[in-house]
Amino acid sequence: MPDQPMPLPSMFDLTERVCLVSGGAKGIGLAIASRLAEAGGQIAILDLDDTGGEQAASDLGAAGASVQFVQGDVSKPADVARVVERVEKLWGPVDILVNNAGIYPIIPTLACDETQWARVIDVNLKGVFLLARAAAGRMVETGRAGAIVNIASINAFRPLPGLAAYSSAKAGIAMLTRSLALEFGRFGIRVNSISPGGIETPGGRDANRAVADAFGITSEQVTAGYVSRVPLGRMGRADDVALVALFLVSPAAAYLTGTDVVVDGGYVLS
Ligand code: NAD
Repeated sequence: MPDQPMPLPSMFDLTERVCLVSGGAKGIGLAIASRLAEAGGQIAILDLDDTGGEQAASDLGAAGASVQFVQGDVSKPADVARVVERVEKLWGPVDILVNNAGIYPIIPTLACDETQWARVIDVNLKGVFLLARAAAGRMVETGRAGAIVNIASINAFRPLPGLAAYSSAKAGIAMLTRSLALEFGRFGIRVNSISPGGIETPGGRDANRAVADAFGITSEQVTAGYVSRVPLGRMGRADDVALVALFLVSPAAAYLTGTDVVVDGGYVLS
């Protein structure tokens, strides 16, 4: 007798699943935290930003979700260990990890000093390694299957001026994702990534403004130039990414690991 297929509503039911979302105070991370909460998960938001993190947790809590904000820097091993331990004390080991925290300062390579380079790599790439190692380590020790989603970028394979460190870190995430998927598969831990195109977020707007200033044009002109190359004809929304993240952590993606999903409205085709 073949196994009975899981009914669709159960696929997207994250009740009692412990979810940790880095950079969840705003933008894409907040949208992901919000969708995982809507699916019934217990949500820990890890973010550098105290005020934004508390506000996000209180907004999601008011909508009925079980949410906790924990302040920390993903690039600091001690912070990562403290956060993962704190979440486990609260609800149990992390089942679902979304590595979303990231920074994308626009710095032309000839003006980029070592400190700036190191910070971008530390937050965007080392932070993913630190959190994945900490969360997956506990999944393995406690014998629990789990899912990890890393937020990469189309810049992992499509460079843009001023983003050499960022694009290198994001390309690193793509390979880190595949390496972790290879190593963790036998423990029932799936690891995938998402490569968003241009998404309207607070960070995205700052980057847009920096590009506009560098070229002496307006932010609206930068957006219009970008959108003119998007087959689906609009900027991305944080929720476009969040829905794919929900799919990737759900049993609907049970046989997917080590893969990258491009969420860009078709931009890289143009
Ligand atoms: P955002 O700047 O709007 O939000 C990022 C959040 O991460 C903030 O709350 C910030 O405080 C937090 N954060 C930054 N550094 C941190 C650290 N060291 N430790 C903990 N938290 C930290 O950014 P966003 O646009 O929502 O981007 C989220 C992710 O999506 C990033 O990894 C980014 O590279 C990626 N991405 C964004 C776009 C886009 O167009 N917005 C496109 C492709 C990829």
